[in-house]
Amino acid sequence: SKSDAPVHPDPPVKVMVRIRPSTAPASLDWTVKKVSNDSLSVGDKIFNFHSVLDSNSSQEDVFKQVGVPLVNDALAGYNTSILAYGQTGSGKSYTMWGPPSAMVEDDNSHGFQGLVPRIFQMLFSKIQQDQENADGRQFNYQCRCSFLEIYNEQIGDLLDPTKRNLEIREEPKNGFYVDNLSEEYVTNYEDVTQILIKGLSSRKVGATSTNSKSSRSHIVFTCVIESWCKETSSKCFGSSKSSRISLVDLAGFERSILDDAGKQCVKEGKFIKKSTSQLGYLVNCLVEKSRSGVPEALPYQGSCLTHLLRESLGGNAKLSVICSITPDKKYGGETVSTLRFGQRVK
Ligand code: ADP
Repeated sequence: SKSDAPVHPDPPVKVMVRIRPSTAPASLDWTVKKVSNDSLSVGDKIFNFHSVLDSNSSQEDVFKQVGVPLVNDALAGYNTSILAYGQTGSGKSYTMWGPPSAMVEDDNSHGFQGLVPRIFQMLFSKIQQDQENADGRQFNYQCRCSFLEIYNEQIGDLLDPTKRNLEIREEPKNGFYVDNLSEEYVTNYEDVTQILIKGLSSRKVGATSTNSKSSRSHIVFTCVIESWCKETSSKCFGSSKSSRISLVDLAGFERSILDDAGKQCVKEGKFIKKSTSQLGYLVNCLVEKSRSGVPEALPYQGSCLTHLLRESLGGNAKLSVICSITPDKKYGGETVSTLRFGQRVK
């Protein structure tokens, strides 16, 4: 891997659960409750994670738990990723991106601003601070972003919807990459929000043409940060760092997809099931590898998503998984299956 961070003893994977507010009247025979900072109960069964946020939690709380450490790790040279996992309607998009209107800085709905915009606000303010002090001035930073969608194992460019069926290629120098995917250089928060708003609205456009397609695709926002020492007189001259932030909003995996009579839905469901179970397996192996210290090859083959995450999860990588669930009885089966996924990758 091209990450330059030192080997670290922290767990490489952290799992957080966020319980969204209920949308149904309380049910006597179904209760989902946070019982401590790192556990929750479903009926009389207890599930343990690294942290649990209940339905009163704010977007700021999620940012403090997951976003702040991510920015610090990314600037230290780690490859960092977030995966949002859960059924459709459980709050993945709300948590990750928040409403697009809340990305615009002078909008007064700031409390709703999602995790990703908060991450880039902090990232650029840290880079700016860094460049204002004497040591930091020796460094140049360059950040570039891309935004893609995986639908039925096909990769589409969310920044240029005319680009479909893109291929994953490998290059000895740069590793795996998506051929012909748009990349945009960003220098501040506003640049990032424009890309986010553009990409998220492309996903929406697709959604109206094939009904609820948006919840059946994985979307991946990537930002590569490169920094290098530019001061010829400094002892750091010639040194450089590169790290990658990958933010993934996974397709909702719910029974209804598999039960649906339409052929298209069955096909979608199969692809989602396959890529999600490959992902679970990959994350499992990542955890095992860090426990045993044995540098085994990780199972990236098998789906577009795991293939793509190769550059993010290899080497010195840190991953946060956000499991979103609803407390409503109606979705009890999906809630338990989401918690099991989180438990399995912990
Ligand atoms: P998903 O991306 O998992 O399909 P969404 O994020 O689109 O789910 O959430 C579905 C609806 O519920 C949206 O209208 C969203 O604004 C709302 N919602 C989700 N989580 C919360 C929350 N924690 N607080 C308030 N509203 C939420």
